Amino acid sequence: MTDAAPLKLFNSLTRQLEEFQPVHPGEARVYTCGPTVYNFQHIGNMRAYVFADTLGRALSFKGYALKHVINITDVGHLTSDADAGDDKMEKAASAAGKSAWDIAKFYTDAYWADIERLNIRQPFQWSIATDYVPRMIEFATSIADAHCYELDSGLYFDTSTVADYGRLARAATEDGEGRIEQVDGKRHQADFAIWRKTPDGETRQMEWDSPWGKGAPGWHLECSVMSEALLGMPFDIHTGGIDHREIHHPNEIAQNQAYCSSDHSGARIWMHNNFLIDRGGKMSKSTGEFLRLQVLVERGFHPLAYRLMCLQAHYRSELEFSWDNLAAALTRLKRMVMGVTTLRANADVASNVDHPKLVELLARFDEAISEDLNTAVALTCLDEAIAMKKVDAGQKLATIARMDDVLGFGLTTLERADLRVQPKSAVTSEADIEAALARRKEARVNKDFAASDAIRDELIAKGVEVMDGDPLGWDWRLTI
Ligand code: AMP
Ligand code: ZN
Repeated sequence: MTDAAPLKLFNSLTRQLEEFQPVHPGEARVYTCGPTVYNFQHIGNMRAYVFADTLGRALSFKGYALKHVINITDVGHLTSDADAGDDKMEKAASAAGKSAWDIAKFYTDAYWADIERLNIRQPFQWSIATDYVPRMIEFATSIADAHCYELDSGLYFDTSTVADYGRLARAATEDGEGRIEQVDGKRHQADFAIWRKTPDGETRQMEWDSPWGKGAPGWHLECSVMSEALLGMPFDIHTGGIDHREIHHPNEIAQNQAYCSSDHSGARIWMHNNFLIDRGGKMSKSTGEFLRLQVLVERGFHPLAYRLMCLQAHYRSELEFSWDNLAAALTRLKRMVMGVTTLRANADVASNVDHPKLVELLARFDEAISEDLNTAVALTCLDEAIAMKKVDAGQKLATIARMDDVLGFGLTTLERADLRVQPKSAVTSEADIEAALARRKEARVNKDFAASDAIRDELIAKGVEVMDGDPLGWDWRLTI
């Protein structure tokens, strides 16, 4: 058995590792808070999806039939997580002079393209918030009498009506939540809008009729409703970035308690990835050009180098972004691809792995993944598998393929040439470089070192570093 270790996951609710026990035997139902599609996602956001994808892959590896839902928030998310500010979608639409629907479509497509480039698997369902508004109104209606009150600005959830509000955040006392801005008439500072009325005399691009007047759903309501609609309650795991542990998820939990019963939280396990940090401040969407996947690609980095960079850290640790880290991840990925390409040239994937050394390695890999997704250790197991000597190549490939199913690089098909991404600023093409290198090789064969050096200098001027004797066989790389 290679999947014998019990799967343990860190539950933010209990702040402990817990053994995964599915609600429905043999199945794992997971909901991931997805993007608000008013802008591109930055690479920090993408870390949240790499994490959710790795969790899903690990659950599949452990033999569970995975039902994963990721939502697309195309309405209702305000510029502040609490109840202040504008709707992000409406604001972006008016700034761009486009309809909110067009903005949502454009950024959803861009997000899906990034998902694909990072080898993030397609979930069982993408749930689009605006498709569920009637169901949100039904949900809100069913809890309104016992748990909500109406103000001029909307329908508010009274957080004192559920037991232990905010236990996920562990900070929600009346005056503990300094970030929540006051709305006139709210009974408690932590109360939040589940329906926001369109102010008299105004029209929103996205608005619906409701028992509380024309308006739009609150962002927290969306996730409660879509997770309940698609996964049923209770379901297994709810994921998101660590910022959601403070407001968004406590509010979802409060709604779920109101809708179901006080003693369950909707999901049994709440998991949060820590942040990707950029000390250069290039991740803020308010500062114009910000770090998104395309920026990395334009600098010559394959998107999977970013995936590898994420997996080198534990998902619960902060991860500091730097170009050096990313370059190191790309080099590591290249080494993996070279190792696997050589193997692929010599063998086919074996149908069975029974070599004791490989069986032992797979067991260690399984242990690492089962210990709250320790991808850093799992990656070293993959390195070991690639480097292992004196074992059957087909079995080695099968071992690598099994690990790669969890880590998600596509190593059984990825080619060395795929990883060579031309930076946008490059002033030369790959074909020209190869031609110049061929001329240089000839010059060297003819011992015409002056010509050879001249070609090398020409290449350097174009930002091409020629790497003679490079052990990776990567004989050149672009430096700009
Ligand atoms: P948003 O589009 O703002 O709703 O964010 C999408 C996802 O990215 C959420 O799960 C956030 O918690 C997560 N997130 C936001 N910033 C970061 C970051 N710097 N690092 C990792 N995850 C983040
Ligand atoms: Zn959510």
